Amino acid sequence: MAVLSGKNAVITGAGGVLCSKFAEVVAENGANVAVVDLNLESAQKIADIINAKNGGKAVAVQANVLEKASLQAAYEKIHAELGDINILINGAGGNNPKGTTSEEYYHDGDIDRTDIQTFFNLDESGVRFVFDLNFLGTLMPTQVFAQDMVRAKDGVILNVSSMNAFCPLTKIPAYSGAKAAVSNFTQWLAVHFAQTGIRVNAVAPGFFVTAQNEKLLLNPDGSLTPRSNKIISGTPMGRFGKPEELLGTVMYLLDDNASGFVTGVVIPVDGGFAAYSGV
Ligand code: NAD
Repeated sequence: MAVLSGKNAVITGAGGVLCSKFAEVVAENGANVAVVDLNLESAQKIADIINAKNGGKAVAVQANVLEKASLQAAYEKIHAELGDINILINGAGGNNPKGTTSEEYYHDGDIDRTDIQTFFNLDESGVRFVFDLNFLGTLMPTQVFAQDMVRAKDGVILNVSSMNAFCPLTKIPAYSGAKAAVSNFTQWLAVHFAQTGIRVNAVAPGFFVTAQNEKLLLNPDGSLTPRSNKIISGTPMGRFGKPEELLGTVMYLLDDNASGFVTGVVIPVDGGFAAYSGV
């Protein structure tokens, strides 16, 4: 019997590059999957792929992780179609150019320039958007989708952190702070739920080329940008990750038989990036 058979999993951001892969592997391992995304069309595409294969059943559900009413409506739909929720992956997240400085370092006189986005003119609403999407976008779905788990005294929650949580990358203070908050919240919730039968962990992907970071990492001709050259030289394994390389860690953390005594950890899957001082 597949390790997740009989389980129902909710995966937010599952229409996206990484979490669509998570949705597929969870279904291949026997669970039914609610493919939740702001973008219903991309969620439906993934649900259709899953339903065309052997494994769990998938339903596509549109929801905004930043709106309680939308999450509640999604919960009701999922509950009616699949039943009690046993697994939650909080995958929706990302950065936004409005929370990003254009320069890595502050240089003399930058404060008076209007042609660059300095720390001083970072847009407050952009910073708030990124912080909310990653942090509240993890906390609020947990409030809604973990209710069945506390009642059943059983469940698994997996958050998606980032390398930025360990050490911030230049230019992206909002995303770095938000992912640090996601890692911190993972530990907080693991402790809070420790006596409920629910485990809470996170995976921290290193650098994977996806739609949302493609323009930062690759030139139009596919060659490395100066930023991705720095990333690759900071990655001891010398390359970007492939989304499939996250799946073993995801499955390990979801499988009670493999990680039943593991809670509150954030596992980097990063080709050694977090371990490397650069020297
Ligand atoms: P992606 O942009 O391909 O997927 C994100 C998905 O989230 C999209 O389908 C989008 O529609 C959905 N989404 C956005 N806002 C939403 C909202 N308010 N409500 C519901 N859904 C919403 O990105 P990805 O690279 O697959 O990233 C997935 C997760 O992994 C994110 O949390 C990201 O921060 C994290 N991450 C990615 C990398 C990487 O290298 N790609 C590295 C570290 C962490």
